[in-house]
Amino acid sequence: MKDSYRHKGLRKKLIEEIKSKGITNEGLLKVMEALPRHFFLDKAFEEWAYVDKAFPIGNDQTISQPYTVAFQTQLLDPHKREKILEIGTGSGYQACILALMGARVYSIERQELLYHRAMELLEKLEVGNIRCFFKDGFKGLPEFAPFDKIIVTAGAKEIPEKLVEQLKIGGIMVIPVGEKSQKMLKITKINDEEISIEERGDFRFVPFLKGTKKA
Ligand code: SAH
Repeated sequence: MKDSYRHKGLRKKLIEEIKSKGITNEGLLKVMEALPRHFFLDKAFEEWAYVDKAFPIGNDQTISQPYTVAFQTQLLDPHKREKILEIGTGSGYQACILALMGARVYSIERQELLYHRAMELLEKLEVGNIRCFFKDGFKGLPEFAPFDKIIVTAGAKEIPEKLVEQLKIGGIMVIPVGEKSQKMLKITKINDEEISIEERGDFRFVPFLKGTKKA
C-alpha cells in the first residue's frame, strides 16, 4: 500500500472541503489529513477515496462519506484513552480515526467477510488500540462495558436499549435514528433512568440489522 504526494494533495483538498462544511475539531482534521482513505477502498476505486461521498465496500455496505465520519466524530468528541464502542466496523476507517485520536476502540461488525477484511487491514496498518468483534452490535459488548462513548455507523429504527445500558453515566452516544433517512442523535446518559437527546441534522445510512451474517 502506497501513499503518494498526489494522494496527499487530494486529501488536503478534501480536508479543506470538510472544514468549509463546518468541521472545526483540529485533532480530527489532522488525523483525517494524515490517514490515507484510499487504503480502505479496493485498488480499482482509489480515485474515489478523496471525493466527499459514501462508496460501496462490498456486501451491500458502504464506507461512510468523509463529511459524515467527521460530523459523527466531532459530535462524539473523542479524547485520549477514552473507551469507545463502535457499531458497524465496515471498512475500518472510522475505527482507525478514533484510534489515531488516542481512543481505545472496540468495534463490532455483523458481516464476517467485512470483519475479516477490516481486521487484516488494521493489522497491516499497525494501528494499535482497536479490537474488532464479529457479533451482533444490538447486544453491544457487555463484557467490556461500561464505555465512555458509543458511535453507531448504521441507521437504527430506534435507540437500542442495550447500548444505552452499556454507556457510563455522563457518557455520550452518537447514533443515526430513522427508517428511510435518519436524524443524527447525540444522546447523553444522565443517570440510569434518564438520557438527554439532541437532534443534529439528517443523514442516510445503510440499515442497522439484527443477527450476524457468515461469510
Ligand atoms: N464505520 C464504517 C461504516 C460502515 S457502514 C466505516 O468506517 O467504513 C455500516 C456497517 O454496519 C456495515 O458494515 C454493516 O454490516 C454494519 N452493521 C449493520 N448492522 C449491524 C449490527 N447489528 N452489528 C454490527 N454491525 C452492523
